[in-house]
Amino acid sequence: MSDPHKKTTPLASELRLICTDFDGTLAEPDGQPILTSFFERLVAWRKRGQLFWIINTGRTYESLQEELVRRKSPLWPDWMVTMEREIWLVRNKRGIGWFEWNRKCELLHTQLFESVSPIWKLVEDYVARHTSAQLVQDAGSPLGIIASCEEEADEISAYMTPLLENWPTLVAVRNSIYFRFSHKFYHKGACLEAISNGLGVPSAQVMAIGDHLNDLPMLERRYAWHLACPANAVDEVKERVRAEDGYVAATSVAEGTVEAWNKLFPLKKGKS
Ligand SMILES: [Mg+2]
Repeated sequence: MSDPHKKTTPLASELRLICTDFDGTLAEPDGQPILTSFFERLVAWRKRGQLFWIINTGRTYESLQEELVRRKSPLWPDWMVTMEREIWLVRNKRGIGWFEWNRKCELLHTQLFESVSPIWKLVEDYVARHTSAQLVQDAGSPLGIIASCEEEADEISAYMTPLLENWPTLVAVRNSIYFRFSHKFYHKGACLEAISNGLGVPSAQVMAIGDHLNDLPMLERRYAWHLACPANAVDEVKERVRAEDGYVAATSVAEGTVEAWNKLFPLKKGKS
C-alpha cells in the first residue's frame, strides 16, 4: 500500500510560513550580514499576502539576539525557537516567551536530567579519557561537549548511541561538533508544529530549511510539506530532503535558501 503521507499533493500549496535554521542556512560563519536577497524575497512575498518567518536554532535566545544585531538584520523573524526547544514570539526585536510551552519544557528537562544522573559521569569519563573534546557548561543541559573535529564527533556519537538506549527519553542533540542533551519530545520539529498549529497554518503551507543533524527533526513532511537544504548541508540532511521529495540547492547558506525558495515557490511576474 502506498504511503499517503508521502506522495499526496497538498490541497493548499500557498506558502504562509517559512522556517529557517540560522547558522549554515542563513548565516555564514564569517559574521557578515545575512544575504540581502533573502530579505528582498521576504518583502516581495509579503506583498502577496501574510507570511510568517521562524528562525529555528540551537543557539540560546541571547546568542541569537546578539547575532541578529551584530549582522544588522534589517528584518527580524516573527518567532524564534532557541536551543531547539524554547519558543518566543518576537515583537519590536524582543522575544516574548511562550510561557506555557517554555515552562513545561523546563520542568520536563529538569525532571529528566535528574532521573538519568548516572549517564553524566559515564560520558564525562569517556570524553576525558578517549577524546580531546572539551566538556563545557551548556545553558540547555547538564553537560555540553565540543569535539575537536567532525570525525571525533562521529566517534562520540557512536559511543553514546548504545548508552542512550538505557534512557529512552534522553537524546543527544548534535550540531556539527557540538552536543547537548534533550528530552526526546522537544526538538525543532515539535516546536515548528506547535507554532504552526497556534497560527492555524497547515503543514501544506509550511517550508522548512536546514543544514545539519539538529535540523532533521523538523525536516519531515508532517511538520513542513516543502523541504529544502543548502549545498553545504551534511549528507544525512541531503538524503532526508531528497527522500522527502524536497529540494537540495546547488548554492550554499543563504544563497541556497533563496535558491530553494525560488524553486519551490517561484514569484510570478506581475505579482511581486
Ligand atoms: Mg545550521
